[in-house]
Amino acid sequence: MKFELPKLPFEKNALAPHISEETIEYHYGKHHQAYVNKLNSLLEDKDEYSHASLEEVILKSKEGPIFNNAAQVWNHSFYWNCLTPNYQNPSEKLVSLLKDRFGGLEEFKKEFSDRATNNFGSGWTWLVQDKLGKLQIVNTSNAGTPLLEGLRPLLTIDVWEHAYYVDHRNARPTYIDTFWKLVNWDFVEKQLA
Ligand code: MN
Repeated sequence: MKFELPKLPFEKNALAPHISEETIEYHYGKHHQAYVNKLNSLLEDKDEYSHASLEEVILKSKEGPIFNNAAQVWNHSFYWNCLTPNYQNPSEKLVSLLKDRFGGLEEFKKEFSDRATNNFGSGWTWLVQDKLGKLQIVNTSNAGTPLLEGLRPLLTIDVWEHAYYVDHRNARPTYIDTFWKLVNWDFVEKQLA
């Protein structure tokens, strides 16, 4: 099976000025595409993966180059879906869930932003739902994904420098501030179990 780069859920210039077309050209067109290409080349002679879905490849490989590339393909596809040029506030239902767990929407955003800011090196910060349905914020490093821990991703931010260096240089906090203007809360809510 050949994996393909999924279509972006928006035009390449649609997130500007918050995330520029140039960032999307590189981040989606070069980085995300490269993970897809590398994964396909690594799987070329691996019969044990010939019928596996992307999630199955991630769960089966667990680590190493196949895992790294498969998880980066998945993580980026999920990240694009978390963003929208047509921002709308989260629903009352979602705000109520965030309030129960974090004290409110603003409190959640602050805690998530703090975790993302302090996620050392390259990685991802996630809002997830655990097996009991409880919301949690988790950090992963490099290609790490909560799928391996049996957690259900609801929202993610890519904090690899390639996600923000063109628009924000080294200033990860201003990229994170900008991220909140683009979150697709409707997508987030649809991920709930
Ligand atoms: Mn990335």
